[in-house]
Amino acid sequence: MENKVTMYNTLTKKVEPFIPNVDGKVSMYTCGPTVYHFAHIGNLRSYICEDVLEKTLRYVGYDVKRVMNITDVGHLSSDADTGEDKMLKGAKREHKTVMEIAKFYTDAFFSDCAKLNIKKPDVVEPATNCIPEFIHMIESLLQKGYAYEAGGNIYFDTSKLEDYYVFSNQSEKELLVGVRDDVDEDTNKRNKSDFVLWFTKSKFDDQELKWDSPWGVGYPGWHIECSCISMKHLGEYMDIHCGGVDNIFPHHTNEVAQSESYLGHKWCNYWFHVHHLNDKSGKMSKSKGDFLTVSLLESKGYDPIVYRLFCLQSHYRKPLEFSYEVLDNMAAAYDKLIRKIGTLNREGEVDQAAFSEYRSRFEEALCSDFNTSMAITVLYDMLKADISDATKYALAESFDYVLSLNLTTAHARKEAETGVDAELEAYVLEKIEERKQAKKAKDFAKADAIRAELLEKGIVIEDTREGVKWKKA
Ligand code: AMP
Ligand code: ZN
Repeated sequence: MENKVTMYNTLTKKVEPFIPNVDGKVSMYTCGPTVYHFAHIGNLRSYICEDVLEKTLRYVGYDVKRVMNITDVGHLSSDADTGEDKMLKGAKREHKTVMEIAKFYTDAFFSDCAKLNIKKPDVVEPATNCIPEFIHMIESLLQKGYAYEAGGNIYFDTSKLEDYYVFSNQSEKELLVGVRDDVDEDTNKRNKSDFVLWFTKSKFDDQELKWDSPWGVGYPGWHIECSCISMKHLGEYMDIHCGGVDNIFPHHTNEVAQSESYLGHKWCNYWFHVHHLNDKSGKMSKSKGDFLTVSLLESKGYDPIVYRLFCLQSHYRKPLEFSYEVLDNMAAAYDKLIRKIGTLNREGEVDQAAFSEYRSRFEEALCSDFNTSMAITVLYDMLKADISDATKYALAESFDYVLSLNLTTAHARKEAETGVDAELEAYVLEKIEERKQAKKAKDFAKADAIRAELLEKGIVIEDTREGVKWKKA
């Protein structure tokens, strides 16, 4: 098939044409959540952008197989193999077992994903399901001389590679070695950048989940799971690997090191990384304690899909700062958008020429390194265009395959929930606008009369910081 997608590849630091290993088919791997706490909306930004990537590929005709792991063992509080196991930390905090914590937060993660219309990957595999595969890969790395045993642990020997820092240029490499200087020294390591493939009980006596291995009872390091789980389901050659930018080093760097040493050939061609969602104090992170979740947004009255729109309005390769002010603007824009689409007259013919034209413009935006804000501009242009309502409705339905903003269903659902139909809504909005003008002209008697007229029709209005809100009495 025609390959029309271009994407930024962290490996080459360039926007490149995307050409899969097998014509028409894409194998894609996503680093899944560490399930010791709720996902914060920063984590979910990464999953929303990866969802757009997957759906764009499907939209333009690829047959995609996507795999995701669930990290339920081995991820320590520092990515550099020091500190406590995050899962154990979660279990202690909540006086539960590690497996109870894992189940609870895995379910919570997929429930958040569903609220944001993030499609569940074709395969979801918890790390604890694949211990024999990890042991097999580690044994092979030991046999090939890429790994060594020290102090009861098995380490990957990064000095065996010509270029360990595959994602970095020279100055970044020097910086990364410098960063490693700050990390607690593990005297077992031959080189600062070596990383753990298997811990034995010598590391943590209170580790809850442990397995027998040729090197003693212990548990896997964090990185090995993604190499093994992706190969188990996608084979030795992979097209796209995704994650947040914090995964580039050390996690993805280590994945490449161990996978390519094990396979003896190049493993994954394209690396897709999403930049962070920040709050005013910096990167949002689970370990900070106070963080924003989907449930928190819901409790403040936001439809989670408004957060999806918030993410789609910015480019995945730019950091994004969260603010309620912008979210409020998005909520207002979303309301208008779904009202506009929900009140289109669906009867009549779809104009095929106009349909193809706007669909190509929409595809073009997405195929240019997933320019979602441009894709949304195409949606707005299309809604303003001089084409039939039926064509607009068909296009909105089609675009929503990728945007997943409930474009054609949200309005009807809202009508059913609030008991307010399109006619009444249009009347209320007209009256609110009239009242705004009256207040501006200091005609407060008229403004009060409008409020009373609305109340008679069963509508209560409220002046808030974000503008006028209204509901059925
Ligand atoms: P974790 O559950 O910590 O393993 O992270 C899950 C995913 O969220 C990974 O792909 C991370 O790279 C990504 N991530 C973590 N923090 C942020 C953030 N503030 N903004 C966007 N993505 C993030
Ligand atoms: Zn991973």
